[in-house]
Amino acid sequence: MNTATPTEFEFSFLEEGFCAWDIVEQKISESSTTDDRDAFYICDLGDVLNKHLRWMRALPRVTPFYAVKCNDSRAVVMTLASLGIGFDCASKTEIQLVQSMGVAQSRIIYANPCKQVSQIKYASTHGVQMMTFDSEVELMKVARYHDSAKLVLRIATDDSKAVCPLSVKFGATLKACRGLLEQAKELGLDVIGVSFHVGSGCTDPKTFTQAIADARCVFDMGDELGFNMKLLDIGGGFPGSDDSALKFEEITAVINPALDKYFPADTGVKIIAEPGRFYVASAYTLVVNIIAKKVIMDEDLDSDEEDEGTSNRTLMYYVNDGVYGSFNCILFDHAHCFPILHKKPKPDEVMYPCSIWGPTCDGLDRIVEQCRLPDLQVGDWLVFENMGAYTVSASSTFNGFQRPDIHYVMSRAVRQHVQQVCSQGMPTPKEDCFLFDMPVSCGQESSSEMPTKSCQANVV
Ligand SMILES: *Cc1c(COP(=O)(O)O)cnc(C)c1O
Repeated sequence: MNTATPTEFEFSFLEEGFCAWDIVEQKISESSTTDDRDAFYICDLGDVLNKHLRWMRALPRVTPFYAVKCNDSRAVVMTLASLGIGFDCASKTEIQLVQSMGVAQSRIIYANPCKQVSQIKYASTHGVQMMTFDSEVELMKVARYHDSAKLVLRIATDDSKAVCPLSVKFGATLKACRGLLEQAKELGLDVIGVSFHVGSGCTDPKTFTQAIADARCVFDMGDELGFNMKLLDIGGGFPGSDDSALKFEEITAVINPALDKYFPADTGVKIIAEPGRFYVASAYTLVVNIIAKKVIMDEDLDSDEEDEGTSNRTLMYYVNDGVYGSFNCILFDHAHCFPILHKKPKPDEVMYPCSIWGPTCDGLDRIVEQCRLPDLQVGDWLVFENMGAYTVSASSTFNGFQRPDIHYVMSRAVRQHVQQVCSQGMPTPKEDCFLFDMPVSCGQESSSEMPTKSCQANVV
């Protein structure tokens, strides 16, 4: 048995009328008085909580098991644990992390179809029962080292249109499923359901429909062979911000009818999902500082006399986080990152073709190949939004550049509301519509007080 060991993390409450952007301003003005202009993050945990409400509204039949690999910050995992949702762990360390927060074994799925034997043993001795597989060899390992496991067969999907396809690496074909189920039967193992992943950054909701239909076929095979098939896991792939090509609700509008058709509620099948990006992408704002700058003059381009030689100029900005740090998402997650200016440009400000580079000595360390920005100075700030998914969880300290500090904030109203929803259920849409409108415009209330009060929080 695990006992809850509440661990604390620090965050600030956002006072009414203030939003994460105000904290960006506050931190910038604090650090601009010193020479220490390190890059930093603002993480709005209220945004994570709001995402959960959005999930419950759009997918009421589906219990989320957050994919820890997407962002394993303690504060994020603990906030999600406090909501009572489940976790998708892919390794011993991820299992340790969520169990250290008192998450029950039944709320963990070990969703890595190819596991090291010692880690299967770890799951076994720590009570983690649900785990995925997609091969015969994995079944043999599980039979030997964890024979009470509740197995979930991962099937391949057509994820050719996803930003990050996963079925090149994982998932059994429909053809292979019967053989795998027969082998599980022979080994005396228990198969309880089917999982899939449509690929991270799904751009075609029909992939979900096909995968749900395929899962139905595999359920029928399992039932025929005498398994009690009772768990459908529809994986991840949901967008994390509203600037994605496909909106979350556009995907769920396709998923819900498919679930009702192939897995009607009266079949008693439990449906879960493994969202990662959805919960965390928009919660994180990264603020970087310009540490160096170069002006490149293209002598071949004639400039008119009037523009005083400005039209043949290209600017190179060097900032204090790069692709070996937070912007690893450009390499691994195929992300496209564009900055917002901290100092609003004047309406007639001249814009130049620019490139933006990270701080390391590697030529690969480029954040933006081409964009248009004004003539900025060393010491100026650039802001990148939607930086919560596949950023901090995969960054390195290559070349000795440290990871940015993360400042966690949360609005009281959001927290109270979520606590209420968790204890009393979802209110009618009318009552809570204010929540989704809330932080759009911010900082309307001018106040001479500090917008935040620091406090210790224990959300578990
Ligand atoms: C990475 C991963 C996820 C999360 O995917 P998102 O696209 O971030 O939602 C879920 N399940 C599995 C098995 C994964 O590998």
